[in-house]
Amino acid sequence: MRRNHEPVLARTVVDEWAIAAQVPKPTARGTMLRYSGAHGCFRRMAYDWFEAQYSDPPTPAMVIQANMGTLFGEAQAAAQIRKYGGEAERASQINHWLSGSADWFGQVPEYGDVVYENKVKSGFAFNKAMGYKRGYGRVSRNGEDGPPLEAVVQAGMNAIGISMELGRTVEWVIVGVLSTDVLSVNEARQIDATDTERFCGEWAVPIDVFEPWARREIARLEEAYEIIDYGNIPPTIAIGDGGVRVDLDPEGKSWQCGYCPYRSLCAKDGEGFVPVTQSALIRRPSTTETKE
Ligand code: SF4
Repeated sequence: MRRNHEPVLARTVVDEWAIAAQVPKPTARGTMLRYSGAHGCFRRMAYDWFEAQYSDPPTPAMVIQANMGTLFGEAQAAAQIRKYGGEAERASQINHWLSGSADWFGQVPEYGDVVYENKVKSGFAFNKAMGYKRGYGRVSRNGEDGPPLEAVVQAGMNAIGISMELGRTVEWVIVGVLSTDVLSVNEARQIDATDTERFCGEWAVPIDVFEPWARREIARLEEAYEIIDYGNIPPTIAIGDGGVRVDLDPEGKSWQCGYCPYRSLCAKDGEGFVPVTQSALIRRPSTTETKE
């Protein structure tokens, strides 16, 4: 047998996904900012809004995880609709600059109205959420972190937006974390993991937990909105683990910058605030005339 170092068939669909990922997806209601930007980098939001051409376009290896998540999320929502009714991609808007959509919104016994947020994660993030310490076939439990905080915040903003539009309060969000790296039967035995725990964790978060985080994030995003609306590219700030502010360096090692399609542009623009007229950004060709 020989290994095809340039695969003929194995990456065909991923190559297509990478081509389709060369521009950001539009926001749910055409607003400047989106719920899924929760805890994200201010500057990246500005580049999206000003329609900057990607300086470092996503490669197939960068899009595969996100697209597998999308495919799974669509199948998940379709199954949830078959079982509970409700809606997939339920859009809502909190104000004129912020909108988003819930992976699924509907009613389930015990919780009533629920926003569901579906996260498909690699082994690393899944293990962190579930508290699994894994390596070389050995696994132990190490205290679970629970779902990523930004997923709770994103779901919380969906709940707030949907509540405003429905005129009744959505009191629960449920975050599901599913792994692309399932615990083996042998690993599961070592920690008495159930079949569910091999691939899936789910957390129900009540309004008194998600709402303060979501409102704090809306206030933070308002700062980004004002800076961008004034015609500036903001500083490189985001929220990291534990909900604390982090100052990002496009040439550093943070994962946010590692996956950012604007890395070289951001480095060229330098630190701090940059008036959009002085930014090195080039508008994406098809949208050059649309935003002045
Ligand atoms: S490279 Fe990093 S700091 Fe710059 S826009 Fe992207 S995420 Fe933000």
